[in-house]
Amino acid sequence: MPVLGVIADDFTGATDIAGTLSAGGMRVFLAIGAPGSGDYAREAEEYDAVVVAVKSRSIPPAEAVAMSRGALSWLQQLGIGRFYFKYCSTFDSTPAGNIGTVSDALMDDLGAAQTIFCPAYPVNGRTVYMGNLFVGEQLLSESPMKDHPLNPMRDSNLVRLLAEQSRRRVALVRQDVISAGAEAVRAAMAKMRDAPFIIVDTVEEKDLTTLAEACFEMPLLTGGAGLARELPGCYHAAGLAKKAPSLSAPRAKGRAVILCGSCSEATRRQIALAKKNFPAFKLEMDAVSSVQAVAGVLEWAKQQPANAPLLIYSSTNTDEVTAAQARYGQRAAGEMVEKTLGEIAGHLVKAGADKVIVAGGETSGAVTNALNIRALKICAEIAPGVPWTESLSEPRLVLALKSGNFGGDDFFADAINMLL
Ligand code: ADP
Repeated sequence: MPVLGVIADDFTGATDIAGTLSAGGMRVFLAIGAPGSGDYAREAEEYDAVVVAVKSRSIPPAEAVAMSRGALSWLQQLGIGRFYFKYCSTFDSTPAGNIGTVSDALMDDLGAAQTIFCPAYPVNGRTVYMGNLFVGEQLLSESPMKDHPLNPMRDSNLVRLLAEQSRRRVALVRQDVISAGAEAVRAAMAKMRDAPFIIVDTVEEKDLTTLAEACFEMPLLTGGAGLARELPGCYHAAGLAKKAPSLSAPRAKGRAVILCGSCSEATRRQIALAKKNFPAFKLEMDAVSSVQAVAGVLEWAKQQPANAPLLIYSSTNTDEVTAAQARYGQRAAGEMVEKTLGEIAGHLVKAGADKVIVAGGETSGAVTNALNIRALKICAEIAPGVPWTESLSEPRLVLALKSGNFGGDDFFADAINMLL
């Protein structure tokens, strides 16, 4: 019986937390969207954690709530009693939601009295101090996240950000309390009973260990993958799950396709390097809405050496993204690119590609939907937070879904080399 059910607000967030739990010795099943009632019930029994990816980060709050409640209800039907709402370590959201609105709904459905919000991941440069989120040395609102195409983050104060999104009271547990240990955290939270939502400072890695120890038995936790990394150890120590052996990379013999819609600096560096080694095609925004754009890519793909990995990207700099958004609208520009990359993926898989690497959270959602991928098994880790995965339904593929910011400069070659 799985010990933890996770609802992740985008697809790469889901593979991130799934890979993180797996690296900690849990067997992890990943469902893409909430399956129908009773679906996968037998398969899920063999796993320690079940993650449901819902593409809810950047959609209207009411839809995000409905999707997340659907996921919760399916997880509850599996007999699971502890849940985790996973969002990005940069707290990607807007004043309308969806982190606060979804958390409100999950708390209501679970009848939970209190939960914590812990986006931090110090080892990746995401820390929270006095309730303010930092990316490296910069405040969130001064980091590149201020220009994100969908969720520009212009405030760094999580207490304020969350209060705008929720009808519940928000309070802060400060770092001086956390550094005093798990018991001190529990005591501070007990004193704050009138505040159901608690932002937790997290400055060092050991703060995550303390928070996990203090909170792992709560019915609902919310945060990034950092806090989740500490959970397997808590479950194993408490005898709630047994440590699983480490995993190998999956096998696949066909062509690899790399599809990038992420415009993050990390992805753009990875593309610049991969272009030197693999045939590459840049989708121009002027063309992406047209059928000809897809036909153009497929024609180009046919001319490339058999089995050479193909790199196809729309990723570009902030000026070009801003210009495209001014022309087509913010959401519409993103959707045009996502739809086109999804269609391209579908055609290339039909033509024999069986390894698909996607860069970008929203982009991964669009591509997995276009490929009709319903469930994945988590395999070996390529880079922290990015595992290889294997589809458990047709089409049988191996997939790597990478959040924009993740992976070293050589990520694409590293991923492909693991499968050789
Ligand atoms: P990340 O993980 O880096 O945030 P996402 O895929 O979640 O990446 O978000 C990037 C968004 O930018 C997507 O909606 C994508 O369709 C959009 N996008 C990609 N290329 C362009 C472009 N050239 N112009 C405008 N928007 C783009």
